[in-house]
Amino acid sequence: MRDGVGYATGMTHTVLTALALVLAAPAAAQTVPAQVEQLRDSALHDEHAWDITEGLTTEVGQRLAGTEAEARARAWAVAKLKAMGFANVRVESFDMPVWTRGAESAEIVAPFPQKLVVAALGNSASTSPEGITGQVVGFETLADLVAAPDAAVRGKIVFVSHAMPRTQDGSGYGYFGGPRRQGPGIASKKGAIAIVIRSIGTDYHRNPHTGVMSFPEGVEPIPAGALTLPDAEQLQRILKRGRPVTMRLTLVSQTGHGQSGNVIAEVPGRDPSLPPVLVGGHLDSWDQGTGAIDDATGVAIATAAAKRIMDSGRPLRTIRIVWFGAEEVGLFGGEDYLKKHGSEPHYALAESDFGAGRIWRVNSNLGKAREAEAKMLQSALAPLGIVPGALDKAEGSDIGPLLDAGMPGVGLSQDGTHYFDLHHTPDDTLDKVDPEELRQNVAAWTAMLAVLAGPIEPDPKRPR
Ligand SMILES: [Zn+2]
Repeated sequence: MRDGVGYATGMTHTVLTALALVLAAPAAAQTVPAQVEQLRDSALHDEHAWDITEGLTTEVGQRLAGTEAEARARAWAVAKLKAMGFANVRVESFDMPVWTRGAESAEIVAPFPQKLVVAALGNSASTSPEGITGQVVGFETLADLVAAPDAAVRGKIVFVSHAMPRTQDGSGYGYFGGPRRQGPGIASKKGAIAIVIRSIGTDYHRNPHTGVMSFPEGVEPIPAGALTLPDAEQLQRILKRGRPVTMRLTLVSQTGHGQSGNVIAEVPGRDPSLPPVLVGGHLDSWDQGTGAIDDATGVAIATAAAKRIMDSGRPLRTIRIVWFGAEEVGLFGGEDYLKKHGSEPHYALAESDFGAGRIWRVNSNLGKAREAEAKMLQSALAPLGIVPGALDKAEGSDIGPLLDAGMPGVGLSQDGTHYFDLHHTPDDTLDKVDPEELRQNVAAWTAMLAVLAGPIEPDPKRPR
């Protein structure tokens, strides 16, 4: 925005205003069918999404992939989806490796003895219950760790700080997530005995942010944890004093094998020969909070929208709802769906997995031949305060492999300004969900489904 203003210096105010109007007007406004508008607007009073979010987080709570808790979540999901009246409710199971958290603590032994707050990262190696003790070597960035001679790291506990900025679209997460995703492998290759990172988060509460990482083939797993932002900055100040810093780190964990699965349900379309529209989110969560914004709200938003379409009649196309399993620990559910359904055509894919903040932008990638449909979607969403985005991209974690394979998709971008205050922390709980923002999401998803799966005709078997 600032660049644009600078570029336009010298133009008169009138010209600027005219230009702004031209830019703001939809390139080719499409008339939105009254049915779509009515479904969209009535969804602003939705209660289904809250009901699902509240029920799943209360009656199941945390549901780490591959564990007994995630199995209970699948049973809950099947019962809920059947009770809501969806068809073809089923579970597609798969096996997977399972990592579970044990006792964890960190403390500075010298020069200033004190406790720090830490959480193990998913796939961290386990320490003994007594923990390990070592000298800390600190790096400001992942690049600094990469550049360090092995001798500076060998036998030590590596600490990587960094500064992920707060952004609306979450764009900092990819780049600044590096210390978590690659840091442990790099530290291990250089001979470190363990690694702690500054949490990939934006809040200053003493809640560490966990998350998955993996060691490259042939690299010895080492214990890996995340410190809260206040603790990471404390450690930085201690290191700046220039004296050797000794830390005791206890990160106990267990590994084994288990089962996960994708829960699938459908709203059958009037023409079963047409490819379905797939909407979903992920059912599993991390093991600290109750997975309210990550991702109970996601499955709730997609499912509530499908329910509203189903209750209004029969869509032309089948709507397939997928509550993916085992997303957090490595996209196992998305990969399993790709394996079992990747060769079937899909009319469009969309996933909600970025909290429950207001949707502010719609991206889509429906292809050149469906540009009018994509623009109609933009027009249908504009009254909800949603700006038109790209016509050549869509996003989603579990559906990522399918999108990468060239399938059409829609990305409804949520406001993630506060998402990384809660993401993967014990603070991801129901009270953080704003019911009004949740309803705006449902309205957008309902309008999207009305455009993509519609038109919707009265269902003779469902008197209203
Ligand atoms: Zn998620």
